[in-house]
Order: sequence, then structure tokens, then C-alpha cells
Amino acid sequence: MKKLTSSESLITINHYKNLLAAEGIPAQIRNEHLGSIMGEMPFVETWPEIWVINDLDFDRATQLITSVDSESPSASWRCKQCGEENEGQFAACWKCGTSAD
Ligand SMILES: [Zn+2]
Repeated sequence: MKKLTSSESLITINHYKNLLAAEGIPAQIRNEHLGSIMGEMPFVETWPEIWVINDLDFDRATQLITSVDSESPSASWRCKQCGEENEGQFAACWKCGTSAD
């Protein structure tokens, strides 16, 4: 088990977990329910964390979430097949499956 990263947003952590799962990398979320325990620990330690189960996956997992982080959040695109608006991190339309390019 290796800690990959932490984020103040559980949504972000869940997104990472889904991303890793799609690549066949098992991961585990910690501190999922500790957000309300303020004051007992330094703030940052109550953030949700994501851990990779297998240490061997660590480098690949780091690359994956780094590449997601570096993408512009505004880089959404419109599907030319069905006209659906897709978020930038999707390589294919979530609705009809058409590739982004
Ligand atoms: Zn589409």
C-alpha cells in the first residue's frame, strides 16, 4: 500500500479512484468520513486520501493522476455525433461513445 495523494475534495479523490480502476489499478480511499473531525488533527490530515493497493502500480498511478491534473478544466468538447457536451477528461462521448477526435 502506498499513499498516492490527498485532496480536500472527496469528489476529486473518487474521480482518481475511477480513473485508476479504468486502468486496472486497485486503489483504496482513506479518511472518507473524517472531514468533520476538525481540531483534533492538523487540517490537512483529515483530507480524503487515495492509496494504491499494489506498490508496483504506484509510478503508473502517479502518471495517470498527474496527466489529469495538468488538463485544463475548461477543455470541454461537444460531440459531433450527438451534440452532447463532454468534460475534458473524457476521451469519448459519455452518451453515445463517439471518440473526441
Ligand atoms: Zn455523443
